[in-house]
Formats: sequence, C-alpha cells, structure tokens
Amino acid sequence: MSAARHVVVVGAGLAGTLTAVHLARLGHRVDVYERLPDPRETARAGGRSINLGLSQRGIAALAEVGVLADVLRVAVPMRGRVVHRHGGQLAFQPYGTAEDQVLRSVLREDLGDALLTEAVSHPEVRVHFGVRLTALDRGGHDRRPVCRFTDAQGVELVTESDLVVGADGAFSATRAHLVRGLPADLHQKALPWGYKEFAIPAGRPGDLRCAPDALHVWPGDDGLVVAHPNINGSLTATAFLPLSGPGSIAELTTEAAVRELFDTKFPDVRDLVPDVVEQFLSHPTGHLVTVRVSPWQHEGRVVLVGDAAHAVYPFYGQGMNSALEDCSLLRRCLVGPDWAAGLREFERLRKPHTDVLADLSEENFDELRAKVASPLFLARKKADLLLSRLFPGRWVPLYTMISHTDTPYADALRRASRQKAALGWAGSLAALGAVVTGLAAARRGRRRGGRGRC
Ligand SMILES: Cc1cc2nc3c(=O)[nH]c(=O)nc-3n(C[C@H](O)[C@H](O)[C@H](O)COP(=O)(O)OP(=O)(O)OC[C@H]3O[C@@H](n4cnc5c(N)ncnc54)[C@H](O)[C@@H]3O)c2cc1C
Repeated sequence: MSAARHVVVVGAGLAGTLTAVHLARLGHRVDVYERLPDPRETARAGGRSINLGLSQRGIAALAEVGVLADVLRVAVPMRGRVVHRHGGQLAFQPYGTAEDQVLRSVLREDLGDALLTEAVSHPEVRVHFGVRLTALDRGGHDRRPVCRFTDAQGVELVTESDLVVGADGAFSATRAHLVRGLPADLHQKALPWGYKEFAIPAGRPGDLRCAPDALHVWPGDDGLVVAHPNINGSLTATAFLPLSGPGSIAELTTEAAVRELFDTKFPDVRDLVPDVVEQFLSHPTGHLVTVRVSPWQHEGRVVLVGDAAHAVYPFYGQGMNSALEDCSLLRRCLVGPDWAAGLREFERLRKPHTDVLADLSEENFDELRAKVASPLFLARKKADLLLSRLFPGRWVPLYTMISHTDTPYADALRRASRQKAALGWAGSLAALGAVVTGLAAARRGRRRGGRGRC
C-alpha cells in the first residue's frame, strides 16, 4: 500500500462518495466538495427523485464496501418490464433467464444517503457542501494540482492536493479543466430529447397496469414513458419527449397541450395519474448527453470517474452501475505507489468497455421507443430465452451479460456477436441439411418413378 496522501474529490454523487470510501480504506485523507447543499439537512425536492435500476455491477460494488444490505432494504425487485401497448394491452418481458435475475429499483436519494453515511463514517473523509469547482490547475508529475471552489456567497476556497478525482457528473467542470490546452478528444452528443418526471400513485392490489414488481414502459416513436416502482407501491415515471418541433417539450407549456399529449399518446397514464398535467408543468426538464473523452487522467494528478468520464443515455440502465464499477477498479489501480501508472492503467482497462456501453445505450433508445412492442422483437427475445435454456452457460443473451453479470461490456458484446454468428452457421447448416435431404428424397423419388415407368 502507498503512503497516505491527500485527495480532493469533486462531486458527492454516487461515484464521488464511493471513491471517497475506497480511498479512505486505503488510508488516504479525502476532501469531497459538492455544489449542492447537504441532503441530510434539506427536504427532498419534488420532481428530481429519479429511481435507478440497480443491477449486478452496482450490486457487487455496493457489497464490496458493505452498504448493499442497507440499499436492498429500500429497493424494490423488478422481475421484468411491462410493455403498455396503445390499445391498453399489457405484455410482460422477463429481465432474466432465471428467477433470481431481477433488477432493483432504488431512489437516487436513498442510494446517495447510504453511500454518504458510509463515507463520513471514516475519519479520513470530510465532505464540504454548497461549494462548486470553478477552476483547476491540473499540476504535473512534480507539481500538485490546485482546485478553486466558490460558495453561494462568492467566497473562494483554494486547495492543493496530491490527486483530484473528478466525479462531478455528465456536465463535469473537472473534465473541462482536465482537457483544456491538451491534445485531447472530447465528444459530447446531446440527445434532442429531454425528460420530465411525475409520480404515479399506488394502484389497487392486482391492478397489472401499475404492478409494483416491474418496470413499466409506454413505447412510442415520438414519446416514451418509463416508470420504476417505489417501496410504497407508487411508481416514479419519466416522460422522454423531443425537445423541439411539433408535440415537443418546447410546445408543451399549457394545460391544454399537456392534456392532449396524454389523451392521445398515453391515455392509460392519464387514467392512472389524475394530476399528471400539473406535475408535468411544474417539474423541470432534464437533458441527456453521451460523453466520450480521452484522456481520462493527467500525470497521476487528475482522473475522471463515472458520468464525468463516460456519461451515457439512460436507456440501458447502466450509467450508475458502470459508475460504481469504475470506483472498484480505480481503487485496485491506486493500491501501488505509482499513481501516474495506476491512472493510465485505469483508463486503459476501462475506457474500451464504457465506449461500448455508450453505443449500447444509444441503440437501446430505439429498442425502448419502438422495438419493445414489435412482434419481431418479441419473437427474438423469446428465441434468446429458449436458446439460453437449451444451452445453459453456452448461450447467454446480451442483456443478461450486461445486467446480471460483471462480464466487461466489450467482452459481452463480442461474445453475443460470436453466439449470433454461431447461430447463423447453425441455421445455415440446418438449412443446407434440409436442402440436401430434400434433394436426395427428390432424386430417390425420381429413380423410383423412373423404375416404375420402365
Ligand atoms: C432519467 C435518468 C434515468 C437513469 N436511470 C438509470 C438507471 O436506471 N440505472 C443506472 O445505472 N443509471 C441510470 N441513470 C444514470 C445515473 O443517474 C448516472 O450514471 C449516475 O448518477 C452517475 O453518477 P456520478 O456520481 O458519476 O454522477 P452524478 O450522480 O451526476 O453526481 C455528480 C455530483 O457532482 C456534483 N457536481 C457537479 N458539478 C460540480 C461542481 N462544479 N463542483 C462540485 N460538485 C459538482 C453534482 O451536484 C452531483 O452531486 C439515469 C440517468 C437519468 C438522467
């Protein structure tokens, strides 16, 4: 283990607090700076209470630091997704190939509280709320980095450390300072869709329209609603809609316009949520972005984790899971004394996989919007499940590898492609076999027919 050092973590979100826990356990002094006020002292804000789908990677990362039991206590198991078709029919699609392959719906605040509580239980960790990173001198191999933070009154705080960890999310200020003036690649792809959240009250027992053991999806080409269950039987829904153009969030500014949206596109959501119009109009609009950046680190002095390094669209439900998984790998890379080499290794090992996750998350936008309701998609899903039962351990659906294992993302995709190719070969061989058998039968038939004619 290396000698104790001083680390500044920017952002006390999920990745920031988990990184602080790992570094404190390695014996380092950690100061975490968060722009928002202390959540333990503020009332929870309506409209921002996103539920997250926790899957195997996140579960393993939480178990590693001993907070999993606390999180599972307030999480709701989801066995699959319920797809609500336009006519009101429901279709259930299981998440896994085995009973125990479920996702867990957890409130971001509950997960954040569990990680923050664990972080501050370490005397090495101090968390400073209400201060925003405004400048960063990233330092170099013989020069320590210097961060500048500003509070709501404009008071500045300057701090020097051995390492700065940028865990400040998709719109990271650390990332902007890290790449400034360097030969770096930074690609940000904003989705031309935004989102609004609203609550769906608990339904009557047995009402499958809001069954509490599933994710609910109302698909649509020009609008999509997704809802996660809460522990009290209610659901937290997110409406994803285009940001501009006809029927877009930009146009949905009046009660009449919002009512028409739900009447025409999501009538059973309207039936389940009497105040959907009021909620929609009073909640803020969220924005979604995919970020690819290189480098993730600088001379052992600055590194990015979580969304700051690789924000992805939320449609595969892996952003938080991958952010938590990052922190475990970062800890392993910082065990030795050479942090410059450790951070380079972190980026080398991790980036190819989060790049693949970004692609998968973009593709799943189309899947959730349109494909989940298509008969071809459903037939493929069923074939996937059937094959995994026929060839256990040899055929593993991509979704299963991504959500229910810790197979690195790019390895999972490669394996899924190999399986598909093998199925293609098997299909071609079966087709060839059928043709050969058919031809042989025809030839035998002709010979028999010929003999008869003689
Ligand atoms: C609608 C939606 C649904 C999602 N659903 C899922 C899901 O089901 N499953 C899943 O795995 N993922 C999901 N995600 C993704 C998940 O929310 C993120 O991947 C995860 O929060 C990333 O964690 P993070 O700690 O890197 O960033 P964040 O959680 O964003 O934390 C960043 C922290 O940094 C702070 N900060 C920002 N700027 C500064 C600054 N300048 N100075 C100081 N502090 C700063 C912020 O206030 C915040 O506390 C979803 C995302 C969205 C938008």
